[in-house]
Amino acid sequence: MRIQTVTVAGGGTLGSQIAYQTAYAGKHVTIYDINDEALTAAKNRLQRLDASYQGDMHATQADLDETHARIQVTSDPNTAFGNVDLVIEAIPEVTTIKTDFYHLISGIADARTIFASNSSTFLPSQFADQTDRPSQFANLHFANQIWKHNTAEIMGHPGTDPKVIATLTTFAHEISMVPIVVQKEQPGYVLNSLLTPFLENAAYLWGEDIATPQTVDKTWMIDGGAPMGPFATIDLVGLRTFFNITQERQGDNPAFKKTLAKVQQMIDDGNLGLESGHGFYTY
Ligand code: NAD
Repeated sequence: MRIQTVTVAGGGTLGSQIAYQTAYAGKHVTIYDINDEALTAAKNRLQRLDASYQGDMHATQADLDETHARIQVTSDPNTAFGNVDLVIEAIPEVTTIKTDFYHLISGIADARTIFASNSSTFLPSQFADQTDRPSQFANLHFANQIWKHNTAEIMGHPGTDPKVIATLTTFAHEISMVPIVVQKEQPGYVLNSLLTPFLENAAYLWGEDIATPQTVDKTWMIDGGAPMGPFATIDLVGLRTFFNITQERQGDNPAFKKTLAKVQQMIDDGNLGLESGHGFYTY
């Protein structure tokens, strides 16, 4: 099957970007969200994305107009899920919300429809059996600022039909993503499996007063040939998110006690990274 029509469930930060990118690439897209207020917020996010596509992608006014014309929004589940090739779920990272959602759409969607989750932390096997079509369920994970950071990590569970993985891979290509097929379930997919320990270890070097953030970044940039170092990356991710992830993984590890306390102190002082203008660097 070739994917022509897509419903993106949840028009939040990532959902609006996925919808925009998919429509920009020529597909017909429906955004589904819970009520009119949420749909208005989603439409505002779509409008704000115009500037990024003009600036970063050199989109013309005609490109933008055509993109918007290919997106419709609705809070009616039958309209959203009754007749569509692919559902991409980008609703909150809360188990009960996602479970209820998959129960809802299982009763509505056509037999051909593939369900894909953009979840950052949940594995596809956690939700496949909450649908009426486990073999047509996989994760399809995009990065924030999808038009620039254009990977689509595709990860099935043991029961996902390989044809579904192939269909999602073709779809990712068609919407200008680089498909990254993860061959087994793995929390963090490829990117975050690499990035999370990397950032943690950088923070440890600073937390234990082994090296300053600037020294660590400089080392990585010179010797790794990278455009930015781990502390600039932590600023971009945001210190709150970085703290939560590190606390979850290393909270019981005495080696990270001092590091976590120092990150917490920065958060308490309002140094949240790029979003607050101050973190390890000033913006
Ligand atoms: P968000 O909070 O910005 O948006 C969530 C949207 O879902 C909102 O518009 C909300 O109204 C809507 N929603 C809530 N309940 C719903 C329901 N029952 N049915 C339909 N819509 C509902 O969240 P986000 O940051 O866009 O994250 C969404 C998903 O994408 C999560 O699974 C997250 O892990 C994943 N993700 C996020 C990022 C990121 O950088 N924010 C990156 C990759 C993946």
